[in-house]
Amino acid sequence: MAAHPPRPLVPGATIGIMGGGQLGRMTAMAAARLGYRCHIFTPDKDGPAQQVSAFTTVAAYDDAEALDSFSKSVDVVTFEFENVPHDSVRRLAQNVPLRPDWKCLHISQDRLREKDFLNRIGTPTAPYRAVGTAIELANAVKILGRPAVLKTTRLGYDGKGQVLISPDMNIGEAWELMGANEGVLEEFVNFRYEVSAIIARNPAGETAAFDIVENRHKDHILATTIAPARIPDDMAEKAAVMARHIAESLELVGLLAVEMFITSDGRLLINEIAPRPHNSGHWTIDACITSQFEQFVRAVCGLPLGSPRRHSDAVMTNLIGDDAADWQTILADPEANFNLYGKTKALPGRKMGHITRLYPRGSQTA
Ligand code: AMP
Repeated sequence: MAAHPPRPLVPGATIGIMGGGQLGRMTAMAAARLGYRCHIFTPDKDGPAQQVSAFTTVAAYDDAEALDSFSKSVDVVTFEFENVPHDSVRRLAQNVPLRPDWKCLHISQDRLREKDFLNRIGTPTAPYRAVGTAIELANAVKILGRPAVLKTTRLGYDGKGQVLISPDMNIGEAWELMGANEGVLEEFVNFRYEVSAIIARNPAGETAAFDIVENRHKDHILATTIAPARIPDDMAEKAAVMARHIAESLELVGLLAVEMFITSDGRLLINEIAPRPHNSGHWTIDACITSQFEQFVRAVCGLPLGSPRRHSDAVMTNLIGDDAADWQTILADPEANFNLYGKTKALPGRKMGHITRLYPRGSQTA
């Protein structure tokens, strides 16, 4: 626990957010409720976050001049997107507190660094190997066996830069398909469930965790989150303990999402971590006393954390690509908590909004 946690940010202060997507948008909405303003830094001209924020800087993530004036105009900087270049993050930190700090971003920006870190602190992942050439990939496949999953070390998300190496796949072709010159080969996990944990930690070292949820993917993109996860209590407890251990080991200030696999033989393996709000936490807006976004704002501003208690069970469904075109039918259902992100183009695979349906607490725990 920090001996002298920094003073809380006074309502009216400005939170700088790197990234202009829906996570920034929902963070800005939660910040506004607590009386803070947000200043969005994004390369996009009309992103979801600036539509609901007081200030926006539209500039490239490596525009030194724009970074300097942004960092001098805000009281704290956080991230809704962790792939901001290394030098830019250091530059920001010269002028303003960065929460979470550089170390958390550095680890989560690179899958290999992340897996090394997780194993070093005793939280298990699937067996993996770093691969820098097609020959190294061939050797790693010999060690880990097939099927295996090849992923880019950097900038991969929603299955992008990911190749399933099936029993008959050509290694050279797999290497080309990945489309990068550094990768991580992972053993294929025969998982029974995919779950995630989200935990907040403030500068005083206080933590608050949401219930563990179950995630279903379609085409590598999160389709549905079921809260709570329908897993045994001892497994949920184990997942929560791991997430807290990771947040504490990172000395995180902010929010941490931890994606995990539960294997058919009952093992918990960490897939990846993200030091920011997460798609699998959107259900908390409607089903918990404090949402993940408000909790994130509280942590970053040095406030006491709110209660993460789930007052209802929930099912969150992402609206992807054309799913939101039918917004009138969705709105006609009075029980659907509907959230649109203000994106103009519904490209395939693009997250346009989500719906959360609530159920009485305990009704889903089959
Ligand atoms: P990621 O980009 O790492 O979150 O992966 C996207 C999705 O691919 C995951 O949510 C899983 O459904 C699947 N996946 C990723 N890694 C593995 C693995 N090692 N074994 C089996 N499935 C995986």
